[in-house]
Amino acid sequence: MPHPYSGGCQCGAVRYTLNAEPMRVMACHCTECQRQSGSAFGMSMLIKRSDLVVTGPLKTFTRTADSGNANTGAFCPECGNRIYNVPGYVEDRLVLKPGTLDDTSWVRPQAFIWMQSAQSWVEPPEGMRCFDGQST
Ligand SMILES: [Zn+2]
Ligand SMILES: [Zn+2]
Repeated sequence: MPHPYSGGCQCGAVRYTLNAEPMRVMACHCTECQRQSGSAFGMSMLIKRSDLVVTGPLKTFTRTADSGNANTGAFCPECGNRIYNVPGYVEDRLVLKPGTLDDTSWVRPQAFIWMQSAQSWVEPPEGMRCFDGQST
């Protein structure tokens, strides 16, 4: 499916349009992604900042990652739904949470990362590239 892609938060206060194809999609099994999502893993869709147009309010939360870099999460102040993360190490990139897209049927991760902390029941699909930690 070609861009643009639309998405938004659970309550509808935040809406966005992604105006280009993502650079890459990962399923991240690190403990921070598990905690942030309240689930088994987080989905990370790397995009260029300039390709995302957001309407509505966003609140941010910044924490220091193990790497020492600041990692900022942007979420809807009404419903708390995380929309994207701002990785500390690059200026012009965002990590969109692709579960917030209106249509996720085309989304497929290229790799599973941080498998060393994956929940015990997680079985990667056949042929999936897996990494114990960050991929690079
Ligand atoms: Zn909301
Ligand atoms: Zn993670």
